[in-house]
Amino acid sequence: MGVFHALGDRGHEEVVFGSDTSSGLKAIIAIHSTALGPALGGTRFFPYESEEDALQDVLRLSGAMSLKAAAAGLDLGGGKAVIIGDPRKAKSERLWRAYGRVIDSLQGRYITAEDVGTDTGDMELIRRETRWVVGVPIEEGGSGDPSPATARGLMAATRAVSKFMHGSEDVSDRRVAILGVGKVGSDLVRRFVEAGASVTIADVYPPAIEAVTEKYDVQVVGCDEIHDVECDIFAPCSLGGALNEETIPRLRCEAVVGSANNQLATPEDADRLADRDILYAPDFVVNAGGLISVSEELTGFAADKAAAHIDRIYDNTLRVLEASRERGVTPNVAAVTLAEERISEIGNLRLFRRNGDDRN
Ligand code: NAD
Repeated sequence: MGVFHALGDRGHEEVVFGSDTSSGLKAIIAIHSTALGPALGGTRFFPYESEEDALQDVLRLSGAMSLKAAAAGLDLGGGKAVIIGDPRKAKSERLWRAYGRVIDSLQGRYITAEDVGTDTGDMELIRRETRWVVGVPIEEGGSGDPSPATARGLMAATRAVSKFMHGSEDVSDRRVAILGVGKVGSDLVRRFVEAGASVTIADVYPPAIEAVTEKYDVQVVGCDEIHDVECDIFAPCSLGGALNEETIPRLRCEAVVGSANNQLATPEDADRLADRDILYAPDFVVNAGGLISVSEELTGFAADKAAAHIDRIYDNTLRVLEASRERGVTPNVAAVTLAEERISEIGNLRLFRRNGDDRN
């Protein structure tokens, strides 16, 4: 693959490859945009089949982070990192510290956090080499695991969707189907059950199911059945691509609100959902709670301030849905347009200020 061609395709600013033979570190950091501020995005640790797969993934994910930060109204750009390897076997202190040094060399243009395959303990080790890391443990003055914050944001988004569709924020009588009950999905179950909703779940990993059913009264179905469950809200909280040509015709929900990144397998899937009168609340708008929470560490984390900030996802979601109605486009197109408008408007302002500083 032509690396420069791949960068230019999505308008990336910079891609950095970090390696340490002694620990086996193979990291790729992609900075998509710093127009609104430093590029913040998690590090994904995953056994990619090829270096090309890893590069494609980090380019795709970092581009989405620019939209997510802009949609959340943050002064942050978009970036992401991937480390190639099996997170259950390849982690070591040496690897994290070598990786921390790579991040440090970027002098704050990229700030990392946890993602699939990484956790707060890993962030703590990175912190020993660089200050450009958030999502560190609460005991270390950080905000801890961002997953409950992400689930909190999904609840705010679901209330907004309910308000938009039915004129009421109440979700107590809703039927919710959740695909993937890992860190975010399991906390989402808790929140919906506590709100009085009825919940159906599916997950490929039986211990994840057991951890939920031990605590909550929920229905369990197979992963091949969850798309067919009659419900109000379908929440994809596993991996990307849950909404595709094969699954969308089967959905029996009125709206989709979930945490997974890149839920639409292709952009056309937004139209497929609209054609079926299913409201799709764009993933990068509704799943920003974790990003908002970890970003609070940059100005000093306080749980109540972070919670209030996350709850603004309600307003952000409503704004997108209203723009979608006004402009006659899908919510996904409306959300991308609003985010790009903000990047362009505020990014230009920052450029002007930087130029002004240069002259002084
Ligand atoms: P996780 O790994 O803790 O949970 C994912 C769950 O999905 C696991 O229980 C796994 O067994 C299950 N799963 C994986 N593949 C599946 C499949 N094909 N069918 C059914 N179940 C499957 O991850 P998480 O932190 O809960 O994140 C879930 C999703 O939300 C991911 O896509 C992640 O990128 C996204 N996300 C997470 C956060 C966060 O704060 N953790 C923030 C934003 C977005």
